[in-house]
Amino acid sequence: MEVSTTEISTIEIRKEKSTIEEKTLRSAALFLVLLSAVVCIMLPYLPTLHTREVEAREERLAEEEYAESQIAMQDLAIKETGASAMEGQLRIRLPEGVEGSSIEVNNDYVTQTVRVEIPETDMAYFDSYPVTGDSNYIDALSYTRQGEEGVVEVVTNQVYEIRTEYDSEYYYFNFLTPQEVYDKVVVIDAGHGGRAPGATKQGINEKDIDLAIVLQLQKIFEESDENIGVYYTRTDDSNPTFDQRVQLANKSNADLFISVHNNSTKSGRMSGTKGTQVMYDETSEAGKQFAQICLEEVTSEIGSVNKGLVKGDEIYIIRTSEVPVALIEVGFMTNREELALLNSEEYQRQTAQGIYNAVIRAFEEGY
Ligand SMILES: [Zn+2]
Repeated sequence: MEVSTTEISTIEIRKEKSTIEEKTLRSAALFLVLLSAVVCIMLPYLPTLHTREVEAREERLAEEEYAESQIAMQDLAIKETGASAMEGQLRIRLPEGVEGSSIEVNNDYVTQTVRVEIPETDMAYFDSYPVTGDSNYIDALSYTRQGEEGVVEVVTNQVYEIRTEYDSEYYYFNFLTPQEVYDKVVVIDAGHGGRAPGATKQGINEKDIDLAIVLQLQKIFEESDENIGVYYTRTDDSNPTFDQRVQLANKSNADLFISVHNNSTKSGRMSGTKGTQVMYDETSEAGKQFAQICLEEVTSEIGSVNKGLVKGDEIYIIRTSEVPVALIEVGFMTNREELALLNSEEYQRQTAQGIYNAVIRAFEEGY
């Protein structure tokens, strides 16, 4: 049969087309193979990457909130007296007609900032009467005027307890380490806060449950006869940065550091999964044992399922803590039954009791 020229060229064009399709298919297949290989290699790191991503987002929110709360201050000079003359002490001269009783002092342990409100002052006043004392404790000294009030801010290089006293001329600040004041020191961290709600299920925010448990714990510590210094990263809806949280533990040389959180399944969907987990520092045997104590005491107090210890080195506050740390995931907010319990005051109180028992047991065991 005779084939016309036009027909031949049509067949050739079809051939060319199919070659292009094959090429596209082949490269698509290759791409998929490579992609699955990358996914397989990355798989063990994916939860870590997710945690880091969530942490990075929350840290950014916390830093924004912190920056917004800051006011502009001017550096203030200190008249150094040397450690021996006024060891651990600062002194501010009282302005004419101002009584020591009208000075307000606020010690923010989380940022290691002591804020002193002194009326009748300005920058020129401190040129004439500089703050005097031992500067070994101090990272920064600054001043600003807020309305009628002058404000001196002292940023210290670690967490201190401040004892104040005054006479007719001066107001004195004595800086004491927590260990000079208390037998034992504990730092308690309620997860998330502010613009970072943590897990959110059925209109309930994790940050509120975490805080409610910590406030119950605060009540128990306040009623306790033990001489334990307890520092809280937050007792309201604020959102300290991860670094501020962990530095509260490191810079107070705490004996124990506990972070209170609540869990959700990876997918975030409601499920049958429930129970208590405690995250620990893989590099610290003391930390791991303390996490185990927390797990046992909390589950026995609230009767939750013991879901065991979980390696926590991917969590910032765990890997940077210099003291034994346990991050307690009390229950699963993605479990209907457990969410209802977590949201109840009685369960929150029992959880707090379990955490308190863990602290006392840890101290009995030599922490
Ligand atoms: Zn959390």
